[in-house]
Amino acid sequence: MTRRPGGGNVSGVSRTRDTHPEDLSAGAFGAWLEQMRAALRHEADADVPCGDCSACCSTSHFVHVGPDDRDALAHIPRALLFPAPGMPAGHFVLGYDDRGRCPLLDGAGRCEIYAHRPRTCRTYDCRVFAAAGIGADRDEIALRARRWRFDDLAPRDRDERAAVRAAARFVRDNAAAFPGAAVPDDPAQLAVLAVKVASVFLPGGLAHRGADAATIAAAVVLVSRDGAGEAEGDGSPGT
Ligand code: SF4
Repeated sequence: MTRRPGGGNVSGVSRTRDTHPEDLSAGAFGAWLEQMRAALRHEADADVPCGDCSACCSTSHFVHVGPDDRDALAHIPRALLFPAPGMPAGHFVLGYDDRGRCPLLDGAGRCEIYAHRPRTCRTYDCRVFAAAGIGADRDEIALRARRWRFDDLAPRDRDERAAVRAAARFVRDNAAAFPGAAVPDDPAQLAVLAVKVASVFLPGGLAHRGADAATIAAAVVLVSRDGAGEAEGDGSPGT
């Protein structure tokens, strides 16, 4: 049986012990950030050294498939796609089975349509949780994410990593400063937003110049709309 949106236990998490506590190299932070932003701009796929991990494919996630994701739509059996709740016609989600696994995951933990997988899967990178200092909302993914270690010895890498974390903290702690208090409550969305808007929190950026929360929030909104937020400026209007 495949879980449909609204009928599944989205937060249903199978509890597992961390049987692989050793660190994993996440690479240099700056290089990762550049690649993550390229993936968010749909210019590249996330290049995650997953090894034998398939946690993100087996933890009760609905996978969004947009109408422009034609290659994925052409390779996913129609019976596995359901209209995406709250989205226009043509947007679908892939459900998951009773064990929380994507129906396209084979018995060996491999994606049956890997070369044609949805953009949602192509841009997913659990290192974003480690980058933003945020815990994932699925135990298996949280365990994996906690093992990533960035090589952030270069000063620029340290600044960028601190900026991503500061961005995540600011958005989480200052929801009231945003229009309608509309900030992501999903950890993955919050972490991705932090990656996009980190320039606001770099040294010399608006957040370091004594701006109030509302002004910083306005800059965050502006930069987030700018795509993957690689602007070198602070994102404030006029920069
Ligand atoms: S489509 Fe493939 S990559 Fe995406 S969740 Fe399913 S098994 Fe994983």
